[in-house]
Amino acid sequence: MKALTFLARRFVAGETAESAVEVGKALKAKGIDATFDLLGEDVLDREAARRSAEANKALLRLVPEGVERNISIKLSMMGFAISEDFCLELTSSILAEAKKVKGFVRLDMEGSKHTEGTIRAFHTLRKDFDNVGIVLQAYLHRTEDDVKEAVKRGDRVRICKGAYKEPATIAFQSMDEIRANYMKCASLLLTKGNYPAIATHDEGLVQKVLAFVAKEKVAASKYEFQMLYGLRPARWEELVAAGHNMRVYVPYGTHWFPYFSRRLRERKENIFFVLRSLVGG
Ligand SMILES: Cc1cc2nc3c(=O)[nH]c(=O)nc-3n(C[C@H](O)[C@H](O)[C@H](O)COP(=O)(O)OP(=O)(O)OC[C@H]3O[C@@H](n4cnc5c(N)ncnc54)[C@H](O)[C@@H]3O)c2cc1C
Repeated sequence: MKALTFLARRFVAGETAESAVEVGKALKAKGIDATFDLLGEDVLDREAARRSAEANKALLRLVPEGVERNISIKLSMMGFAISEDFCLELTSSILAEAKKVKGFVRLDMEGSKHTEGTIRAFHTLRKDFDNVGIVLQAYLHRTEDDVKEAVKRGDRVRICKGAYKEPATIAFQSMDEIRANYMKCASLLLTKGNYPAIATHDEGLVQKVLAFVAKEKVAASKYEFQMLYGLRPARWEELVAAGHNMRVYVPYGTHWFPYFSRRLRERKENIFFVLRSLVGG
């Protein structure tokens, strides 16, 4: 277990809010913004959900002036499975706290059993708050329509491929199809959307997006790139040096196992990293 904790450190900033803030400060010194993610999901106990909400508010207060107060949360951690109203109440309280510190809250997108509910809750929250954004996943067939709707509504979207295992009835399975849909959605967001976040480590997609914004003359202030803590740090700095906005997703906390497993499942290089470390390489 100790070895695993050590290995997870490549992808997780640390167990405490303070460790996440330290990473945020170090990133900011390099011109890179952060979005902080208190790890945890599928909370079925009201007290635990309340504690998570309070911990998110505490983080928002802890981030010092000069570092953006930007967090990512999962609605399943805010008790969505217990009651949608309860979850909305907790999430609204986080958004209100974020508003006080000019902060922004991104609702991460989870597995497909949560897609409809997350979008519904997002629309409800948007009636009262403008400091909230959503994530859409390019592997889902429905996402092109969701992107069009988000563009119409002026919603802020992070577009990613999607990290969960989904059936062929609802999701593209081949990487070529997922990449093609990613570019279709990203193009719409870049030309008509509200400050989209282009979340990917895929160099092919990064290159396509760079070529697209150059061709369509999309100003660099109109979008940002996002990558995960621990993945492609040299590329973060290159993109900043080339004049692009860059944000790194900084997970912290003790409930790192599901997040860590998704990172391992995603790419064989991540598994090689773990194996290399285990054999002392
Ligand atoms: C900021 C952020 C937030 C996210 N939020 C969510 C969310 O809310 N919900 C969700 O479901 N998923 C989320 N994800 C995860 C996402 O959906 C993908 O599962 C994850 O990013 C892996 O896909 P990828 O596009 O990054 O590239 P991958 O599929 O991991 O990589 C594809 C290809 O990219 C190239 N590549 C990758 N790394 C390198 C490298 N170091 N050098 C050169 N080429 C490289 C390689 O050709 C590789 O085969 C998020 C991802 C990011 C970055």
